[in-house]
Amino acid sequence: HAARDEGSVIAWFDTTVSSRLAERLRLAGRIHSAIDTEFELYYQPICHASDGTPAALEALLRWPQADGSFIPPGEFIQLCEDTGLILALGRWVIRAAAQAQRRLADAGWPLPIAVNVSAVQFFNSDLVAEFARATQEFGLERGALQVELTESSLMRKPAQAKQTMQRLHEQGVCISLDDFGTGYSNMSYLQHLPLDILKIDRSFVSDVETNPRNASICRALLSLGHSMGLTVIAEGVETPGQHQWLAAHGCDQVQGYLLGRPSPLVEVIARLETAEAT
Ligand code: C2E
Ligand code: MG
Ligand code: MG
Ligand code: MG
Repeated sequence: HAARDEGSVIAWFDTTVSSRLAERLRLAGRIHSAIDTEFELYYQPICHASDGTPAALEALLRWPQADGSFIPPGEFIQLCEDTGLILALGRWVIRAAAQAQRRLADAGWPLPIAVNVSAVQFFNSDLVAEFARATQEFGLERGALQVELTESSLMRKPAQAKQTMQRLHEQGVCISLDDFGTGYSNMSYLQHLPLDILKIDRSFVSDVETNPRNASICRALLSLGHSMGLTVIAEGVETPGQHQWLAAHGCDQVQGYLLGRPSPLVEVIARLETAEAT
């Protein structure tokens, strides 16, 4: 009996695992054929903390579905990394962001656009060439594109990371460290990297006014970033109180639903024009 029970447990486990695998494979196939046709980039403003005027935009992937919903990046980026699909998708994102920056500049709003680059993409694609090609194809100014990297990208292969960052810098591409505070960075090592911007993770910002622990973390990250000569951005700013706290504590820029939700480029341009007119 024991043996048979064990067998059925294993059989049950196998079906669950293999159906989950089949599901992932199906999704990967859908992503593969969707890359050049179905994905969209939305853009969220990153604003000066002092007066709320826009300093840059962050490009965020959206995968619209037939029923009008979106599959959020949290549900497909990891799969894209695991399957290598991130290389083709990431290439598409860089080119689409470059095209958007051209449109933005032509509309009279030459704001830089920041592109998220995942660790697999950072180490396995010729990122520098992809940025150079996109910049040239759309005739962008130096500084028109930025890169957002996470600590896991930088800590994995430090020497290669540093070299790629230096070459991006030579192209005029500024580099942000995204989701800062959630990883395990070695501070003394970070100091030697050519970073420009530090983005404080949303988890520390959400209750900064009421949670003394997060308030001290934010103060520490602001002082760390500024001591390294970096611009500091707070992510996930949703209330005027958070904005005021951050501005009062010297945070340079703020990003979050309070300042604007991620939206299609045409809507961002329309909002920039309305704000200018008022
Ligand atoms: P991230 O780079 O840290 O982007 C910020 C995320 O916070 C976005 O989620 C944005 O919509 C969300 N957000 C912005 N303001 C607020 C706010 O006030 N409150 C709350 N609750 N959320 C806010 P999203 O668009 O779902 O993207 C999630 C993550 O997926 C991104 O985090 C980034 O790591 C990744 N991602 C998005 N687009 C790309 C891409 O093109 N390439 C790669 N490799 N990763 C991407
Ligand atoms: Mg980001
Ligand atoms: Mg982030
Ligand atoms: Mg984040």
